[in-house]
Amino acid sequence: MHVPPFSLSQQIAELGADLDTAVLKVLRSGQYIGGAEIQAFEQAFAASVAVPYAMGSNSGTDALILALRALGIGPGDEVITSSFSFFATAEAISAVGAKPVFVDVEPTTYLINLDLIEAAITPATRALLPVHLFGRPVDMEQLMLLAQRHGLKVVEDCAQASGASFKGRPLGSWGDAGCFSFFPTKNLGAAGDAGAVTSHNAELIQSMRELAVHGMPIRYVHTQLGYNSRLDAVQAAVLNVKLPRLPGWVQQRQEIACRYKQLLNNIEGLILPDQGHPEAMDHGWNQFVVRVRKGISEEPSRRDWLKQELQNNGVSTIIYYPIPIHLQPAYSDLGYGPGSLPVTEQLCDEVLSLPIFPELSLEQQQQVVDRVLQLMGETSKLEVEDRVTA
Ligand SMILES: *Cc1c(COP(=O)(O)O)cnc(C)c1O
Repeated sequence: MHVPPFSLSQQIAELGADLDTAVLKVLRSGQYIGGAEIQAFEQAFAASVAVPYAMGSNSGTDALILALRALGIGPGDEVITSSFSFFATAEAISAVGAKPVFVDVEPTTYLINLDLIEAAITPATRALLPVHLFGRPVDMEQLMLLAQRHGLKVVEDCAQASGASFKGRPLGSWGDAGCFSFFPTKNLGAAGDAGAVTSHNAELIQSMRELAVHGMPIRYVHTQLGYNSRLDAVQAAVLNVKLPRLPGWVQQRQEIACRYKQLLNNIEGLILPDQGHPEAMDHGWNQFVVRVRKGISEEPSRRDWLKQELQNNGVSTIIYYPIPIHLQPAYSDLGYGPGSLPVTEQLCDEVLSLPIFPELSLEQQQQVVDRVLQLMGETSKLEVEDRVTA
């Protein structure tokens, strides 16, 4: 049996008839840009995030760009975020002309280290951009206090956290704007690229709506330079079919994560992700990311070895992310060298994402667990380096 890192086939089999009907309805309507499907999705998605407004966009990346632009962030401004994320997080900051400032993450949660933020604030800092990486909520209570104390805007990167919440409040409802991606592998996936921004602020949403249509508040009157970044009707129709299933899917992800936590407990050299206190948060578990501790001067790394051996045994895994954003060639001009964000860099050497998706069967998960136990058991006597105090 082969265990894929992610699969849509069961979901499509289950929802196929509804998806066919919904997509055909749009195709036959001729209404491909704008219209009822989009309005219905925006209303339903806003309600699911417990905010009054949501606006569909082309992608999660564009959602971030539109939110930053509408908040007036641009050249000369700095935005604090984490380098342990998908590249788009920082790319969006640069796309509006601002400068990303990276703060190191925590080794247990993989999230921005709130204790290090204040030291990174300068007179140019305008916003905090926390990433709810892998679906794990950032402590938004603490982060909002920090932002208020320093008069900063907050844009949440919720791309991996659809359906997750902190202290009973959905992610995307805490900051000035919540930016979501519906890339097919995210918790709520479209049939292509799509995204959304959520907000409590009607003016901010209106400003983003104008920016998303070429900075055009009135037809053919362009008051600013904008973008072409709309959610299209076919994607909205797909999302309308899938959105009601999101809470159930997130619950299935939580159950799978819980089983991994129990079954992979106490393996030397394998560190499991911190799941937080269940009463304080609903973790979205878009990914289940373990750390394979580096052996002393081993080449190739123990993580890469485990990944290859799992692959040889029918279990496909992925590395999110092998290179931190601050060390990407595109950001060489920012002046971060190796060693500047030690925890982030160590995580990039050690992380491995095990298969997780709502339809992962017990048998498939058992196979993953058996192979990991077998492989890590063989090498559990190896000494491991102690660079990061976990
Ligand atoms: C996927 C992702 C994005 C970008 O979303 P797209 O829809 O692919 O543009 C941004 N940030 C994070 C953390 C992501 O995982």
